[in-house]
Amino acid sequence: MNARKFYITTAIDYVNARPHLGTAYEKIGADVLARYHRFAGDDVFFLMGNDEHSQNVATAAEKLGLDPHTYCDRMEPHFREAWAALDVSFDDFIRTTKPRHLAAVSEILKRVMARGDIYKGKYEGWYCVGCEAFVPEKDLVEGFCKNHGNRKPDWISEENYFFRLSKYEQALKDHYAAHPEFVRPTPFRNELLAVLKDGLRDISISREGATWGVSFPDDPNARVYVWFDALINYLAGVGFPADDESFAKWWPADVHVVGKDITRFHCLVWPAMLLAAGIELPKTVSVHGFLSVDGQKLSKSLGTIIDPAVEVAEWGPDPIRYFLMREMSWGRDGDYSHERLAGRYEHDLGNDLGNLLNRVLNMTGRYLEGTATAPASPDPENPLRTATQACRESYVTKMEALDPQGAILAVWDVVTRANAYVEETAPWKLAKEEGGAGKVNDVLWHLLEALRHIVCYLYPVMPRKMAEAYGQLGLGDIATVRFSDLSSFAFPEGITVMKGQPLFPRKE
Ligand SMILES: [Zn+2]
Repeated sequence: MNARKFYITTAIDYVNARPHLGTAYEKIGADVLARYHRFAGDDVFFLMGNDEHSQNVATAAEKLGLDPHTYCDRMEPHFREAWAALDVSFDDFIRTTKPRHLAAVSEILKRVMARGDIYKGKYEGWYCVGCEAFVPEKDLVEGFCKNHGNRKPDWISEENYFFRLSKYEQALKDHYAAHPEFVRPTPFRNELLAVLKDGLRDISISREGATWGVSFPDDPNARVYVWFDALINYLAGVGFPADDESFAKWWPADVHVVGKDITRFHCLVWPAMLLAAGIELPKTVSVHGFLSVDGQKLSKSLGTIIDPAVEVAEWGPDPIRYFLMREMSWGRDGDYSHERLAGRYEHDLGNDLGNLLNRVLNMTGRYLEGTATAPASPDPENPLRTATQACRESYVTKMEALDPQGAILAVWDVVTRANAYVEETAPWKLAKEEGGAGKVNDVLWHLLEALRHIVCYLYPVMPRKMAEAYGQLGLGDIATVRFSDLSSFAFPEGITVMKGQPLFPRKE
């Protein structure tokens, strides 16, 4: 059977500020999905990258007396280091100033122009450099952009190139109707349907006199609008336009993971660009909510811009990954606080999961010399067998529905059931009964097998700690495990568990 292909992307980041916890949340979410699909046996391509043609980048470079290319080169390692610290497992990292991306932009411009969907016209309006977008007069709040209250938008009046977005209004409406899964979750789909109903207007896609950005063919004075440029990275990342074989294999993207502030670009402009270029549309745009810190939005002045590296140094990557995925519902806003992180660390990870593993390994060592054997007459109604089966179905459904929190909750049902099972069966009492050895073996065998499932299902969320746990169960290298290896409830024969350090030691 051929493996299913799965192509997932995240938004690319402006490099004029270092990555923070909000950006990290998006990358971790995408990483969990990518890792889940690898675990499911799919052929996965996971693309991330940096967005380097923003005016803010040019300005930041100028302040440091650097040319923008040098500046972008210097910023790249900050991003790569943050993602490595969080174990984000992208397959490729694209930068929009590099030749492969530039080639894709020029090919798309050529195609869209050939179709007559780019024309020259006069444009006037308020432009917010923070957003890199024109802001309609009606959306200004006392003259300011609602996202950037500290900086007045610029009034711009210039000859620009326009993209005929309005031409694709009906085609987009048809696409939304035929593909309810195009934008998820539903509230964002509804929001975009409302925008479509209001009608689309053509958008300006050039900036006159800008010195940073991709030049228009035959018009070096005009630079391509940064968004029109940036979106094309999703094509360039899988080989467009040079590598037909790669492009045919991976495109269309299965999931674009994006924040709720950039849905109009990804769910209206981007598909219209693709339609104009004669390219198939991505299958799903998965929209996530925003993170606040201690109930406050992320901002420099509030001191809520948290460096992921600092968090990782204190907690390690896995508790942070777990917390963000467990605490936040994909598509909704959520809050990050050290108090609740510490709570989840102690209760969920330390008590529920870590202690369960520890106790089961201890007892297996003490009563069975480290090796449990399959029960002579397996009980098909054993509660751990039933709970594991239910979890398996629910876990897959949730992951496929882009709901990592739901998947974690499904696994936690088994964790909870297993802890209760330890108390109910009380192996330490059974061990004292005459002829109780067989019963102790059967109980621990069921617990070990439940743990094998739990650990594998949590591997996409906590790759490091679950690899350790898998080793402690005596099962070897978790990276080679596939979902199909968990289709039966049968702890492998002849395995000797190896108790190790507690996975989530108590914090002072
Ligand atoms: Zn703004």
